[in-house]
Amino acid sequence: MHLTFLLLPLFVFWTEYNVHGSANGGRDLALVGLVLLCVAAHEAGHMLVAWRAGLVSKAVILLPLSGVTVYEESRTQPGPSSIEAWRRDVLIALIGPLVNIGLAALSVAVIYATGYGANLWKWPFFQSGNLPRSLVWTNIYLAGINLLPAYPLDGGRVLRAYFALSSDASVATRRAVSISHALAMLLMVAGLFSDTWLTMVGVIIFCAAQLEERAVIFQSVLDNVRLEEVMLTDFATLSPADTLQDALEKAVHSLQDDFPVVRGSDMVGVISRQRILDALRAEGNGYVQAVMNKLFEVSLREESLGTAFRKLTARNSSIIPVVEDQRLVGIVTLQNLMHSMALLAESRKLKRE
Ligand SMILES: [Zn+2]
Repeated sequence: MHLTFLLLPLFVFWTEYNVHGSANGGRDLALVGLVLLCVAAHEAGHMLVAWRAGLVSKAVILLPLSGVTVYEESRTQPGPSSIEAWRRDVLIALIGPLVNIGLAALSVAVIYATGYGANLWKWPFFQSGNLPRSLVWTNIYLAGINLLPAYPLDGGRVLRAYFALSSDASVATRRAVSISHALAMLLMVAGLFSDTWLTMVGVIIFCAAQLEERAVIFQSVLDNVRLEEVMLTDFATLSPADTLQDALEKAVHSLQDDFPVVRGSDMVGVISRQRILDALRAEGNGYVQAVMNKLFEVSLREESLGTAFRKLTARNSSIIPVVEDQRLVGIVTLQNLMHSMALLAESRKLKRE
């Protein structure tokens, strides 16, 4: 759940208080719960269709209006995307509002069938005093707002998919995000002069666009950056014949947390500063050979950062030696990765300018 969801109860309390001078805490919370459920159903629709199209979602961040889905595998292919990708993205996007329209129709049917007098057309449509009416209108609002061409709302996703037909994924995202930012600004300003809810919609769209853009940039860095661009080429190594005391001594003089262990020109293991310390504490002085990790993955310098990340997490290790013709030419560690990625992004930006 995104932090902006905390705004929603505040807003509900505040508007209720404005309407009749008092707020009913329990009913107001129930209203917030209804919104949460409707957003969750909307997102479940996206996930289901995405899953049927072969995209496994790893996480969904719920915002009061919509959600941001993080997929297991990259959705960003370099170059313009195909007609199939466009069809798939449009279908995944449109299912969300369709779920809400379906829910609205269903609740109207239930309200009429039970003969409950919900006064569907009475203003304000969205009010904790009348939860059935609020349920209907919440879904209509969710469907309507999500169809706005404000990325990453669903209408904006269709727009982005359209841009992606003629440009590559990150360019398409950037164009959609700038349109979205403009629209969010407009809503925020319009809300100041009319309904405060509009301002809130603007703020949420702004946050969502920011979240989504960051995720897309991160993914494209993972796919497009090769290890040779970020690996450490100036690093310390240990020898299997080093004593743990010697190794600790070397570790003190290095910024590294993880060390490759090298015999002659062969990589024979990896060891972390923590492992050296633990072994020294537990068993006293010994040799690196005895405590180093002999099971490790190596990568080639032209492999992508994404591949390296997967290898790191699969082995639950924090260092990947980079080899060329069996020779150690660099290392990539989790510790250095974040740092070098920020630097790399900066240097690419400077080059573009
Ligand atoms: Zn949606």
